Amino acid sequence: MRYEGRMWRPPSEARSYILQATIGCSHNLCTYCDMYREKVFRERNLAAVLLDIDEAGRLYPKVTKVFVADGDALVMDVGSWRAVLPRLRASFPALRRVSCYATAQNVLEKSEEDLRELREGGLSLLYIGPESGDDVTLKRIVKGNTFQDHAEAAQKAHAAGMKISVIMLLGAGGMDRTEEHARETARLVTEMNPEYLSALTLSVIPGTPLHRMMEKGKFELPSVEGLLEELRTIVAESEPTRAIFRTNHASNYLSLAGRLPRDRDVIVSEIDSALRGEVPLRPEYFRGL
Ligand code: SF4
Repeated sequence: MRYEGRMWRPPSEARSYILQATIGCSHNLCTYCDMYREKVFRERNLAAVLLDIDEAGRLYPKVTKVFVADGDALVMDVGSWRAVLPRLRASFPALRRVSCYATAQNVLEKSEEDLRELREGGLSLLYIGPESGDDVTLKRIVKGNTFQDHAEAAQKAHAAGMKISVIMLLGAGGMDRTEEHARETARLVTEMNPEYLSALTLSVIPGTPLHRMMEKGKFELPSVEGLLEELRTIVAESEPTRAIFRTNHASNYLSLAGRLPRDRDVIVSEIDSALRGEVPLRPEYFRGL
């Protein structure tokens, strides 16, 4: 099995077999992201991908979950997915789930029939990171899609029978949009109605456009309290019907878990305790990307 460059996956895919079917991200413009900056996007050679699957099947026949990388693997041509998904099922008899990162654009560009076919082939979970529901913020971070795009993409994925895991980014609006960012993000979560919801905390990475903006005084991260306030607003105001909520990513100051809306009050009171300084936060030196 061969991998090119640095590899990334969601925390919940820690025990999954990672199949690198695409290299990089087809968008690769978000101002805060350095994950795939060194890579030029392309689909990997399909024959090499299928060989990887065969090898992984021989080495790890008990695999139950597969995460298809890199940054927005849903963009891969449907013809390639048609070859990859049956090969995964054949190689891993206990396979329960295939997932990948997707942008709203990836979803909107695929037809309803194609999405349904991919779902029937086993692709059952998409990780979509709008980061914010605030259109001003989305434009500034060059996300490439709007609130409405994300809402439509979620609806389309659900109509195809897929589950979605939505990722929000605390701090993405900077100091000046912190309130709008949190409010609109809560509204977008309600619209997207994800099965899984997680929040990450923005780290400004040297070498990114956002870092250059920060150096020029054009972007300022909210304080830790401000970031917790954003999280509080998102939890308190969003209304997903049944979402598993996590902030267990290493970038976060506060690790929370529960179900929304069931555990909303408990989670909000945990955030309030943290805001009052009654709960220890993750120290800066333990935070990661
Ligand atoms: S779409 Fe995702 S992987 Fe691609 S540049 Fe934006 S944040 Fe990075």
